[in-house]
Amino acid sequence: MLKSFQQYIDGTFEDATTTFDSVNPATGAVWAKMPAASAADVDRAVQAAHRALSEPAWAALTASARGKLLYRLADLVAENAQQLAELETADTGKIIRETRSQIGYVAEYYRYYAGVADKIQGAYLPVDKPDMEVFLRREPVGVVAGIVPWNSQLFLSAVKLGPALAAGCTIVLKASEDGPAPLLAFARLVHQAGFPAGVVNILTGFGADCGQALTTHPLVSRIAFTGGPETARHIVRNSAENLAATSLELGGKSPVLVFDDADLESVSNAVIAGIFAASGQSCVAGSRLLVQRGMRERLLQRLIEKARAIRIGDPQDVATEMGPLATRRQRDHIESVLKASLAAGAVLLTGGERAAGLGEGYYFQPTIVDCPDAQVPSVAQELFGPVLSVMTFDTEAQAVALANDTRYGLASGVFTRDLTRAHRLTRALRAGIVWVNTYRAVSPIVPFGGYGLSGLGREGGLDAVLEYTRTKSIWIRTSDEPIADPFVMR
Ligand code: NAD
Repeated sequence: MLKSFQQYIDGTFEDATTTFDSVNPATGAVWAKMPAASAADVDRAVQAAHRALSEPAWAALTASARGKLLYRLADLVAENAQQLAELETADTGKIIRETRSQIGYVAEYYRYYAGVADKIQGAYLPVDKPDMEVFLRREPVGVVAGIVPWNSQLFLSAVKLGPALAAGCTIVLKASEDGPAPLLAFARLVHQAGFPAGVVNILTGFGADCGQALTTHPLVSRIAFTGGPETARHIVRNSAENLAATSLELGGKSPVLVFDDADLESVSNAVIAGIFAASGQSCVAGSRLLVQRGMRERLLQRLIEKARAIRIGDPQDVATEMGPLATRRQRDHIESVLKASLAAGAVLLTGGERAAGLGEGYYFQPTIVDCPDAQVPSVAQELFGPVLSVMTFDTEAQAVALANDTRYGLASGVFTRDLTRAHRLTRALRAGIVWVNTYRAVSPIVPFGGYGLSGLGREGGLDAVLEYTRTKSIWIRTSDEPIADPFVMR
């Protein structure tokens, strides 16, 4: 019996007129029916969000009361983490070890923004006119359109919902058509937490109709998008119609720089975590390993051993370390880029094949390729899969040049025990995140986002909440004297 999910519009759970099949990537079999939101559904959701913006049930709540709703939502996420994790694992193939721990941590994002809600402050300005008082109010920007990709949907929506709701906005959140189950189930927790009808609306559907309708809707004031650069360009063109402010969290081709003096065991674990966790389907995947010549052979040997020892299999099994790719399309893409890379001179060090003996699931072996130059497709393009491209350098200057030779700039990692070199590199690397002697660490307290094709704007941290506000300047004249010359600007 197939499971079925509903969309959440204006405080009500409902079926959509049409549905689509969702495939369990571990088996290749359809396991659930998902509601495909139409343009008319999107319009109803945006209208509801727009109405809710000014209705007293939301608009008259104090900031502290908004914070309390977010605290309640955080508790519900934590209490339901296991069930949400199982759904995410079933729908995306991401291993249960990771989904459970990540969703537990998603609750911390809601807690963080719950605490921020009543700390969004306006200002009093010492204006240069003696008979005027001027202050600034920070008001919610309006209806937000949140759009997320298929990896980590609960996590990627928390960094939008948390600050948007703390600021007093309302939101229509579009789950990806791939793996939407956890976000549609999360809608039940939003409802249970007691947010007024229309404040949060959650639906899913395809980019061409549902996504298009949402990003061109005239009542949307802000678009918070996570996904690929091609879709981002399309959305920015769409946003020109309404001049909706847009933040973009996009892909990456993040370099991991390893110097001769780094600790071998620690580096090899970090490199493995950077590229093979989540089967490489992570925007911050450390997919380019840049290794100094003196360390090269020792590190590659260790990485090959570790890659071959990774337990690939059923993502619902807690012992599994690498699950399938999320979609067949994704596996096809990885295979074709890999083939082109080998034709361009890359040398296969391990992997390169579909993992055997696992039925019809979209499994792919952890793969390492040695690349002679940056023209190799796997060095230049984001694969979003378990493929590590290795390049070798001799000097620090070469390492920086190779690291920055990309149009992306999301994350980077530096492994060295030389403190001054580590500091130099934190300045030289063009990326929104530099991890030194660690990789893939995140926190609600720390901003997250990229340079170049990796995006615009930052999510996470205190400042993110300001992106969901706009200021209103309020002038109050304190003099009872008649206004002087009306033809002169005051
Ligand atoms: P995608 O761009 O194809 O899709 C992302 C979302 O956009 C989906 O919900 C999709 O339905 C929607 N969409 C597609 N066309 C649309 C349109 N015309 N209008 C509006 N919405 C539309 O990306 P994907 O393949 O699902 O995800 C992988 C990408 O996401 C990778 O590039 C990855 O690096 C990136 N990503 C970035 C971050 C980050 O925080 N920087 C995090 C996770 C993933």
